[in-house]
Amino acid sequence: MSTPAPWIAQQSRQLLAQRGHAWLLQGPSGLGQYELALALVRAWLCEAPGEEGACGLCPSCHAIGVRTHADLCVLMPEAVMLELGWPLDEKSQSELDEKKRKPSKEIRIEAMRDAIEFAQRTSARGRGKAVLVFPAERMNNVTANALLKTLEEPPGDVRFVLASEAAHLLLPTIRSRCLGHTMLWPEAAAAQAWLQDQGLAAADAAVLLRAAGGRPEDALRFAASGRDPAHWRALPRAMARGEVSAVKDWAPAQLIDALHKLCHDLLAAQAGAAPRFFDAAELPAALSSTALIVWSKELAAASRTAEHPFNSGLMLEDLVSRARAALNCKA
Ligand SMILES: [Zn+2]
Repeated sequence: MSTPAPWIAQQSRQLLAQRGHAWLLQGPSGLGQYELALALVRAWLCEAPGEEGACGLCPSCHAIGVRTHADLCVLMPEAVMLELGWPLDEKSQSELDEKKRKPSKEIRIEAMRDAIEFAQRTSARGRGKAVLVFPAERMNNVTANALLKTLEEPPGDVRFVLASEAAHLLLPTIRSRCLGHTMLWPEAAAAQAWLQDQGLAAADAAVLLRAAGGRPEDALRFAASGRDPAHWRALPRAMARGEVSAVKDWAPAQLIDALHKLCHDLLAAQAGAAPRFFDAAELPAALSSTALIVWSKELAAASRTAEHPFNSGLMLEDLVSRARAALNCKA
């Protein structure tokens, strides 16, 4: 298992120095909520934990490394379990293998019932037990209420960490039962160095970190999903020329996200602020503020239908043509 990024290690030390049987880690996506949650449960269950957290060498650390720790219950939507390499229970796995259904995007009530039963059992290794919930906002009301009862009266030796990328969506009663921790933003230099340690070239890391708005985990995900840094840099020009071919493989939601970022930077430039997601040199200058504001409203409206577009090809064309109009409307 790779060592956590320095800003995650720092937050882990800080949280481990405090008592608490239920933590809620909150902040926007890409700041390492899952990594921090995992660092906490590893340290809680470790047989020889130090100030830095888990030792990384004991049988407990090893069991978490190979994702089979009897005292750790990981509660995630199945799609996220699969993405992060956690095994599903036998029944769910066979239902998916037989294509009876698709991997769930929510935390299933069945998984929650198993977790509650797990919380009642005695610890197998004698270091207590841990439940990791991620992303915690993917619980529906029924699932969240089931968890709430256990959070209110936790069996003695179980600790919880809920990691969320949208904590405002959680039941207030869940939030109030946890100690909250707001994820820290890493310094740009530390994030850049970490991305290079993960194997990205310096120039690519810089572009992707910008594209991700400074969130290193998101930047790494962009790299893993094949997002080309040169392509990102060229995006403003391609959109100004109305080139649909430049984004033909994108999902509408992905394009809307990118155009929102472009529109944000252009509006920032109008206000004399530095761009955040793109290099200033790549941005068209002297555009009409009115056209940009209209465009920004169009994007907000489009994002409401992007999850279920009627026809994604047509939606991409429409998005590009609106982008082209805004990017060619001079002040
Ligand atoms: Zn250990």
